[in-house]
Amino acid sequence: MALMTGEQYIESIRRLNLQIYMFGEKIESPVDHPILRPSLNSVRMTYDLAQDPQYEDLMTATSAITGNKINRFCHIHHSTQDLVNKVKMQRLLGQKTASCFQRCVGMDAFNALYSTTFETDRQYKTNYFENFKKFAIATEENDWTVDGAMTDPKGDRSLAPHAQPDADMYLHVVERRPDGIVVRGAKAHQTGIINSHEVIVMPTIAMGPDDKDYAVSFAVPTDAEGIFMIIGRQSCDTRKLEGSEMDVGNSEFGGVEALVVFDNVFVPNDRIFLNGEVEFAGMLVERFAGYHRQSYGGCKVGVGDVLIGAAALAAEYNGVERASAVKDKLIEMVHLNETLFACGIACSAEGKPTPSGNYLIDLLLANVCKQNVTRFPYEIVRLAEDIAGGLMVTAPSEKDLRDPVVGPYVDKYLRGVNAVSTENRLRVLRLIENMSLGTAAVGYRTESMHGAGSPQAQRIMIARQGNIGAKKKLAKAIAHID
Ligand code: SF4
Ligand code: FE
Repeated sequence: MALMTGEQYIESIRRLNLQIYMFGEKIESPVDHPILRPSLNSVRMTYDLAQDPQYEDLMTATSAITGNKINRFCHIHHSTQDLVNKVKMQRLLGQKTASCFQRCVGMDAFNALYSTTFETDRQYKTNYFENFKKFAIATEENDWTVDGAMTDPKGDRSLAPHAQPDADMYLHVVERRPDGIVVRGAKAHQTGIINSHEVIVMPTIAMGPDDKDYAVSFAVPTDAEGIFMIIGRQSCDTRKLEGSEMDVGNSEFGGVEALVVFDNVFVPNDRIFLNGEVEFAGMLVERFAGYHRQSYGGCKVGVGDVLIGAAALAAEYNGVERASAVKDKLIEMVHLNETLFACGIACSAEGKPTPSGNYLIDLLLANVCKQNVTRFPYEIVRLAEDIAGGLMVTAPSEKDLRDPVVGPYVDKYLRGVNAVSTENRLRVLRLIENMSLGTAAVGYRTESMHGAGSPQAQRIMIARQGNIGAKKKLAKAIAHID
């Protein structure tokens, strides 16, 4: 079963025995929970679109390992066209869900691990590449959604992993056995883990010789014994419990993050991809982060497309769509959004093969891409709020609109142009509210800032890759300086 249908995917997640906690309670049926279900629907879209012939080229690929047709989210990229198609696929998913569809972290982890395990084996004669390939084939053939877990809680940021007063602030090996290892620690902000079949764990920073136990990478099922997931709150999350589809703004789709605890989890030998080779921790971090920074040049652009469309509708429903100031704001939003897309495509087109044969994006351009993502969506949101007007935060609830006493007043006084119903005007404002202040703002705003690394992380990479020395030489040559 190389390609699962959306329905098969939902049922496969239902069968997992996940330990999920929210509001101090264990969630027995996360698949049916009104706060969590929209996030599952977003991942489901990665399966549904792969079944649709019109999206076949973007959503599916030919496995470079088995030659089988697989979902592109399971694919190891083997050309710059693969890298470009990945970004285009993510834009499409952003357009269809207006939220984070979560499945990219696994795809980005596969591609980082494919090349890093190969290079680790070359130096240490280890067996990580074969381990990883076996896992990659199982992922492709089972069409798994895989979480890529990188961010440790990190405790005191001034201290290395081994120097933390609490040794568990970075995930580490606590026991070595003949058949595998036992690990303990946590990973924070885990996008989509509750909707994933497996989790790949990676180190979060480059490490030194004293951090051997922390330089560890592996994959385990998300319902492995000892894994606990504690759901993160999102702004306006409990609105989903009120029963009003309209007030939620985007009732069908959403994203989800959780704090994931690994409390003495056993990892069998053939699921280990790094175990103590500290100098390769940095390579893995850099490559995973690079791929995920490329990803943001697709997914955030797709969500931006929906937000720009919503702002244009709000203007139309207010009767101001022809005002030159409004037109200019929409132009600015498109310009910013397409600049992000241009960065996503550019770092893909400039990709190069690694020694393992898979393709790595241009790291400088991928970091420039993500650095722009830490800024432009904020400006796009600002312009959307500007166009929408204050009603997006002062509009009464759906219940008031439907109330026999005050409903007619709401309907009468909150109407814009006569040809559009008040209900539709309010619907589009709720959607803008959802993306700028509500649950989807996690994915569109704060995740744009901190997801795939906070702005300073990209600036460090830009400093490393920017090659100022070569630029000085250029200036010297032109100015005739010896
Ligand atoms: Fe994918 Fe974007 Fe969500 Fe990352 S933030 S998992 S790239 S949709
Ligand atoms: Fe992310």
